[in-house]
Amino acid sequence: MPQGKIVKALSGFYYVQDGERLIQCRGRGVFRKNKVTPLVGDEVEYQADNDQEGYVLEVFSRKNELIRPPICNVDQAILVFSAVEPDFSTSLLDRFLVLIEANDINPVIVISKMDLILTDEVKEKVLSFAKDYEKIGYNVVLTSTVESTVGKDLLPILNDKISVFAGQSGVGKSSLLNVLRPELELKTDDISTHLGRGKHTTRHVELIAVGSGFVADTPGFSSLEFTGIEVEDLTYCFPEMHERSGNCKFRGCTHVKEPACAIKEAVESGEIPQYRYEHYLTFVEEIRERKPRY
Ligand code: GDP
Ligand code: ZN
Repeated sequence: MPQGKIVKALSGFYYVQDGERLIQCRGRGVFRKNKVTPLVGDEVEYQADNDQEGYVLEVFSRKNELIRPPICNVDQAILVFSAVEPDFSTSLLDRFLVLIEANDINPVIVISKMDLILTDEVKEKVLSFAKDYEKIGYNVVLTSTVESTVGKDLLPILNDKISVFAGQSGVGKSSLLNVLRPELELKTDDISTHLGRGKHTTRHVELIAVGSGFVADTPGFSSLEFTGIEVEDLTYCFPEMHERSGNCKFRGCTHVKEPACAIKEAVESGEIPQYRYEHYLTFVEEIRERKPRY
């Protein structure tokens, strides 16, 4: 039986991409047998009646599943932050990173609008933040849509993977996608409006082919609350803390008030940036109070 990937689900149809072919499928068996509702991103086995129509027969097991947008098997989140307009914010970046890490998705940090930086001072600040995040182990890409390096900067990252873009509105997500797939002509400001409304509308999500990979046409992680994340989970979402936490004196150290804490020592010696630790403390407090603070 042939296999493919669901790239779109609409009005009871699943659109299965198999190489160059896009087959409009209905579900058969999958619902009754495994009680699985096929999702965009699913790898499926299908049966084609002809070149255009067929049936989804089986859904293969998923590596992960997002609720908003409803999509699965996401390999990475492309976290877009503009250097300026709006200004680069490490506290918002750390919040997104926690949400993405908690979903076991690999984040890639893209700093956009580099062309809009006006002073050396701002440039140095942005580059120094980029270095901090690279030191943690994150892939950081600096780019700009006016310097036409977007393809060279981003295609190698997007190839062969399913990616979801994330980041606050106005940072340049749709502009980047437009450069990568000009034929789509996503209206830049329209998409931002979609983002704002996204929470309450059931807009369908579609995977669009970019290079040899796929990108969701709807940004993810639009809810910035730490729902479902506990204080104990938080260290895992800060890789530079997680790798050191075995050296804390107390097992289950939360790195807040405990003595002989390896994290606090690493902050004091400058190995962990002060601002990362402060954001960690803010998030701990927020989770303890379960009140959003942004
Ligand atoms: P989104 O809300 O994240 O999808 O952001 P948009 O793609 O709609 O971009 C917001 C605004 O920033 C638009 O007016 C874009 O033209 C502008 N913009 C996006 N990327 C760049 C860039 O790299 N350089 C410059 N100068 N402007 C950009
Ligand atoms: Zn500790």
